[in-house]
Amino acid sequence: MADLFNTRQNLSHIKVAGVIGAIMLFAALLLHNRLNIVLPEVKPFLPIYATCIILLEGLTGYLLISQFLSNRRWYVGVIAGGYLFLIPLVAIQLMVFPGVFSDSGLLNAGSQSAVWIWVFWHAGFPAIMLLALLTERLAKNKRVPKASAPLWAFNFVALALLFGIGLALLATWYSQHLPALISQNSYQQLLHSPFAIMVWVLNIMALACMAWRCRLGGVMPVWLTLALFASLLDVTLTLFAGNRFSIGWYAARVSSTVSATVLLGVLLWEINTLYLNMRRSNEQLYQLTMLDSLTGVYNRRFLDKQLQLELQLAARKRTSLALMLLDVDYFKAFNDSHGHLMGDHCLNQIAQSIASVLQRPADFVARYGGEEFAIVLPDTSSDGAMQVAEKLRQQLAELAIVSGSKTLNITVSIGVAVSIDGHHSPDGLLSQADNALYQAKNNGRNRVILAPPAATDNIEQAKPY
Ligand code: GH3
Ligand code: MG
Ligand code: MG
Repeated sequence: MADLFNTRQNLSHIKVAGVIGAIMLFAALLLHNRLNIVLPEVKPFLPIYATCIILLEGLTGYLLISQFLSNRRWYVGVIAGGYLFLIPLVAIQLMVFPGVFSDSGLLNAGSQSAVWIWVFWHAGFPAIMLLALLTERLAKNKRVPKASAPLWAFNFVALALLFGIGLALLATWYSQHLPALISQNSYQQLLHSPFAIMVWVLNIMALACMAWRCRLGGVMPVWLTLALFASLLDVTLTLFAGNRFSIGWYAARVSSTVSATVLLGVLLWEINTLYLNMRRSNEQLYQLTMLDSLTGVYNRRFLDKQLQLELQLAARKRTSLALMLLDVDYFKAFNDSHGHLMGDHCLNQIAQSIASVLQRPADFVARYGGEEFAIVLPDTSSDGAMQVAEKLRQQLAELAIVSGSKTLNITVSIGVAVSIDGHHSPDGLLSQADNALYQAKNNGRNRVILAPPAATDNIEQAKPY
């Protein structure tokens, strides 16, 4: 996978991320004097929200760990940890949230447990992003050694999950030792506590540092900046909403979902781009390996593979298949008189001319070698093949090859062999066509000779594939 941190131009990404950020800010400003209005408590909202966040963070963490395994950058492992550590926090927060599974929450949670998990979550995520930026600076271009990358991937996942579980259980079982931040559903105490300032400052610092990092290029910092912006908005809305289940509180949850989604979006986009590029390069590679570079028609490798397949198909469908070997007459003399370059040009023109005569989609021409071409006509009888061969011979005899002010002509000899039911091996059929071609040369060239029907030489071919 490409390195999303360094290699790419990111201007278009900055524009798209900027528009999303601006829309979110605009929506938040529209709501600013309605944030405190308390809405009815929608019971399924929290479970749905938590499930979404867990899935989004989990998928993002998984894709980031895959990235880490391929590019072995320390900071990518740290960012993956930043997403994965949220999973136990969100899951346990849902369990301990008053009123979801029971009035006071599961796991013997206290009334302050859920809000403390919120603090750990919203301080932890920006803190880990800051740590990732620091790691990038310190590690410079050093990467995790190839052999220990899987172990480190495991370490990052395990550490992140343990860290998240540890913090969540601290908030669950020891919240009575932590300062109270919420009374009933009101956040007023949290808003006026140093913890709110700490969460804010961490989010602002991480946002500023990540935005500053964007100047060095790379796609991922742009989207992490948007994720941190959404996280800051989430914190701000939650604190100013003042109450659970208020407009601001619901809006903050939406913002937090955006924060969890953006990086997953860019990772999926990257995978899709990668897939499209791979298909394109596979096609290019196929062309390189199957086409003749001088004439642009198929090469011998393709002929060997395709002739075998077409014969198998003919055997299965019990249809005939015609093969022609076409050789340019006296081509050595042509080269000697007009030069090798002119010879190349001539071969190219011959190939195009042959291709233009072939009509059916399954017909094809391949350069067999030197100045010889093989033409395969599936589902074609001897009569049909002889007609095509004669047409080819005539068309090539009339082909005008222009050299400066002169117009040159060539002739060709063609040997045709037909397998009436596909029960022939490619080599057997090629050898028949070659014998017929030899006869055409001996009989004076510029002619077509049909090989006599030969006995089936390969029963194996009859096996349908
Ligand atoms: P024949 O009528 O018996 O086929 O005579 P010929 O001269 O065509 O046959 P021969 O096998 O003696 O010579 C083939 C010539 O084809 C030799 C070489 O100069 C030419 N040739 C083979 N490959 C290429 C190529 O890629 N480019 C060019 N310009 N000439 C080629
Ligand atoms: Mg030859
Ligand atoms: Mg020749």
